[in-house]
Amino acid sequence: MAILNKLIPSAIIALSITSCNMATQQTDDFDYTVDRFADIEVLRYKVPEFENLSVNQKALIYYLTEAAITGRDILWDQNGKYNLPIRQTLEQIYVNFDGDKESAEFKAFEKYLKQIWFANGIHHHYSMDKFTPEFSQEFFATQVKAIAPENLPLNGKLVDEFIAELSPVIFDPAVMAKRVNQAEGEDLITTSANNLYDGVTQAEVEAYYAALKNPNDTTPISFGLNTQVTKKDGKVVENVYKVGGLYSDAISRIVELLDKATEYAENDAQRNTINKLIEYYQTGDLSLFDEYSILWLQDTASQVDFINGFIESYGDPLGMTGAWESIVNFKNVQASNRTQIISDNAQWFEDNSPIDPRFRKEEVKGVSAKVITAAILSGDAYPATPIGINLPNSNWIRANYGSKSVTIENITQAYDAASQGNGFNEEFVYDQETRDLMSKYLFITDNLHTDLHECLGHGSGKLLPGVDPDALKAHGATLEETRADLFALYYLADPKLVELGLLDNPEAYKAEYYKYMLNGMMTQLMRIEPGKDVEEAHMRNRKLIAEWAYENGKADNVVELVEKDGKTFIKINDYDKLRELFGKLLSEIQRIKSEGDYEAGRNIVEKYAVKVDPKLHAEVLERYSHLDIAPYKGFVNPIYTPEFDADGKIVDVKISYDEDYIPQMLRYARDYSPLTK
Ligand code: ZN
Repeated sequence: MAILNKLIPSAIIALSITSCNMATQQTDDFDYTVDRFADIEVLRYKVPEFENLSVNQKALIYYLTEAAITGRDILWDQNGKYNLPIRQTLEQIYVNFDGDKESAEFKAFEKYLKQIWFANGIHHHYSMDKFTPEFSQEFFATQVKAIAPENLPLNGKLVDEFIAELSPVIFDPAVMAKRVNQAEGEDLITTSANNLYDGVTQAEVEAYYAALKNPNDTTPISFGLNTQVTKKDGKVVENVYKVGGLYSDAISRIVELLDKATEYAENDAQRNTINKLIEYYQTGDLSLFDEYSILWLQDTASQVDFINGFIESYGDPLGMTGAWESIVNFKNVQASNRTQIISDNAQWFEDNSPIDPRFRKEEVKGVSAKVITAAILSGDAYPATPIGINLPNSNWIRANYGSKSVTIENITQAYDAASQGNGFNEEFVYDQETRDLMSKYLFITDNLHTDLHECLGHGSGKLLPGVDPDALKAHGATLEETRADLFALYYLADPKLVELGLLDNPEAYKAEYYKYMLNGMMTQLMRIEPGKDVEEAHMRNRKLIAEWAYENGKADNVVELVEKDGKTFIKINDYDKLRELFGKLLSEIQRIKSEGDYEAGRNIVEKYAVKVDPKLHAEVLERYSHLDIAPYKGFVNPIYTPEFDADGKIVDVKISYDEDYIPQMLRYARDYSPLTK
């Protein structure tokens, strides 16, 4: 519930923060762009200051990055049960192909393979729709037959049976059409193609968990977080992801690497945290995962940090099972001054929040926030990655122990640098004055928005006693992101930020307000196919906020849609009133969450967040098509190469950035695939 996801290709400026409140133009000859295909652009990111870490820290990072890459296949299998055999087969075809590599058929095949690499499976990582291959079924069958059978994941089948099994999964649009189905009124489990449930209905799963949950338990485990739900002898059961359970070969290897990492831990607290994670992986016991989460969030002294496990549940239509992910990172000490100031003032923000005082937290606990430098991305965070994270997700742990919040600045920096000069602002921003404001202040206000969203937004407010944290069901994720975004938007315009030295201009927030309204009402639609609804939680949240503010500000003409040269533009007439509207909506969303008002939550989502105006949509797509901007971006990782002494101790780790997309995917498949051997 807590990732600010997959940044919108916002603005265009390449700015870097040199202190809390100053942004300066940077020049940079790093080669950010790696590959471009379908709706995707692949970038690379820098890891500044890695060279200046201690040898111990570098060695720690090295083993944690190895553990990260090792878990990648887990996510592939969670996303769909045919994903790994399909990937393995297509990779075999790719490396063994000896025909014409310039032929249209091979090019189409290569594009499809690049798409499924990017999505960790056969469904689009964002829209959840199955990809449509542009190569023929005959090509596929012919190529499979050309591969030595021992190099195929036949699993006891004959080659012809194997082809017959995979072909409809790849080619028939009706088979496994959607990874996560959120359509109101359908059985969300049986109509979703993910592999988190097998052979069970939504009603069976809900009844199963309802029987397990004790409403009086004040410290409940995160039910279903690390399991696949299936049936055995007619009864609903959970297959646990653990050593000796599901994904054992990958998890055992992760445990070995984590164990190596403990040798280089920065301090005892960090060593204990890693050991607790190992214990959890060995047993699958979710109460140990809670213990681990508490140790993890309390370790604020270590510079190196990481996530490794089953974390975010967007891939589960019921929001229970965690997708496997790992991000290894270290603190950006200088930029963290900014988030330190915010978290030091957390109580002030909570006390002044424009919500019903009954829903405020009397005492904000342990909000720790930092700016980090990502060293590796894997699983659910690779190649498409979040720009901010706030964990853990367990409500009672957040209430009793607080949470840890990060802004990943080397990723936002790479997005910004790569989008320099792409013509977006010229096409979509109403006037030069707004463009100037954006080029001056959007990088800092975007980062502050992420800081406030993650560090304070998700952690703010409280549920009334007895309210089920899952009461908002399928709309919970959208409404939670809405709440965190509104909190950030409301405070971005507060004079307090200037007083705290976080911004040097009381007008700076307007850059982010403009971008937010533009994105929520218009430009994010370029990610939606004509005729389709908005489905992804973060996109729904942004649309909900922008459309609600537009609609409810109409009487005062707060935000206008104006036409210029036959094109539609957003024009904001009254920024102060817009801020008031954000505050008012925050108050209502907080009420919905605090009271668990499912009906109101559903109504507001259905009214503002889902349906797309087809005329405006077509216009946005048309204008975008001239810019050739990829709607989605993701990253390749750097390579870490350790140097050992005679006793096998690491004496240095070198970083390099020269690996391209296809070589990285093939190397990971070759060297880090414990589940396909
Ligand atoms: Zn969030």
